[in-house]
Amino acid sequence: MLRNDQLAEWDRDNFFHPSTHLAQFARGEMQSRIITGAKGCHIEDREGNKHLDAFAGLYCVNVGYGRTEISEAIARQAHELAYYHAYVGHGTEASITLAKMVLDRAPSHMSKVYFGLSGSDANETNIKLLWYYNNILGRPQKKKIISRWRGYHGSGLMTGSLTGLELFHKKFDLPLEQVIHTEAPYYFRRADLDMNEAQFVQHCADKLEELIAEHGADTIAGFIGEPVLGTGGLVPPPAGYWEAIQKVLDKHDILLIADEVVTGFGRTGSMMGSDHYGMKPDLMTIAKGLTSAYAPLSGSIVSDRMWKVLEQGTDENGPIGHGWTYSAHPIGAAAGVANLTLLDELNLIENNRETGAYLNAAMKDALGDHPHVGDIRGEGMMCAVEFVKERDGRVFYDASQKIGPQVTAALMARGVIGRAMPQGDILGFAPPFCLTRAEADEIVSKTAEAVKAVLG
Ligand code: PMP
Repeated sequence: MLRNDQLAEWDRDNFFHPSTHLAQFARGEMQSRIITGAKGCHIEDREGNKHLDAFAGLYCVNVGYGRTEISEAIARQAHELAYYHAYVGHGTEASITLAKMVLDRAPSHMSKVYFGLSGSDANETNIKLLWYYNNILGRPQKKKIISRWRGYHGSGLMTGSLTGLELFHKKFDLPLEQVIHTEAPYYFRRADLDMNEAQFVQHCADKLEELIAEHGADTIAGFIGEPVLGTGGLVPPPAGYWEAIQKVLDKHDILLIADEVVTGFGRTGSMMGSDHYGMKPDLMTIAKGLTSAYAPLSGSIVSDRMWKVLEQGTDENGPIGHGWTYSAHPIGAAAGVANLTLLDELNLIENNRETGAYLNAAMKDALGDHPHVGDIRGEGMMCAVEFVKERDGRVFYDASQKIGPQVTAALMARGVIGRAMPQGDILGFAPPFCLTRAEADEIVSKTAEAVKAVLG
């Protein structure tokens, strides 16, 4: 077996890590962390350290680690047929079964699912389908996409543009000109507006109206949003937000893409975030929870009304010119079937709802009065703790103080993995759905210790 220091050296010399400070890593100021195994909610590294993973990887290992039902389904599929493509009507039992299982769990007006590999490529597919749709309908100018500041939709050219976080644009010449951004439904951050929550919801709808008026509804194809703002801060929408937005979109014939990469398959406590908030999307993006990340797989779910136009398009133009080599990869599909089956069999969404509510309540009990905790919020198995310099008037810390990362590091030193969300001092939790109350208690007590260590 290779020594740890040998692996670390190879890692530093050869491996281009995503979302990593490249220079610090190359200089050895940041250590390699080599993960070797995991079970339930815990992961283990090569030095034998064990951590409670309260972010489920990248909020994706929803059923928890080490589920042999899924790994065995993957192995069986790999033995029988590791690969065949899905072009010109080809498929496998796993991919066809999974498509049915997805549609059975999607809102009833959805019609078909196109399988990809990542949340980013599924969103690229969705934007292409919107453009295709408007071209077939003879509206070639209706192409712009509205996204929200702080939204996260991937890091490709189009999807990185949709993502409303500065880090994903800066020095990459993004966003592309077809993408425009509007206000995020982040009430806690808008104390400056001096509004109650209902007024703020109206403000978000008004801002959207203004943006549409500025560009012209006939130039705008779609609006993309996560039911719960995820990477931008784990922010559930204020009451009535999606109804207000949907009303504006319907009025201007702008289609809604619900990016359910995080919320899909139970994270909010409902099967889909769209169900949870009464959204009526024409396109849905799914990924992480589709396979609980046991294998890469994503999907773009298309509504009945869009599907009819897509069919018409192929009658006029021939087969749809959009496909990936790995669309509906059989190993991913087998993982998806086993994962969704397990979610049902173990009642994991119900556990998620109950234990997620317990986690949120316990976090509020422990830290709700802390002078530097401004907000504790969540939905289903998600919880965020936002730090402030002063609660009165919501004064935030300067980013250079790195309060969020410091608390996250202090928590990790105590055996629990949370995530310092990339913009603002926000400590995020999104554990696997199988979290127990004892594990929730551990997350809360260790978080309280970490906050005390950094902020007093
Ligand atoms: N959409 C949302 C809401 C996401 O959270 C993510 C990933 N965190 C993506 C899209 C992109 O998914 P991927 O990283 O698989 O490309």
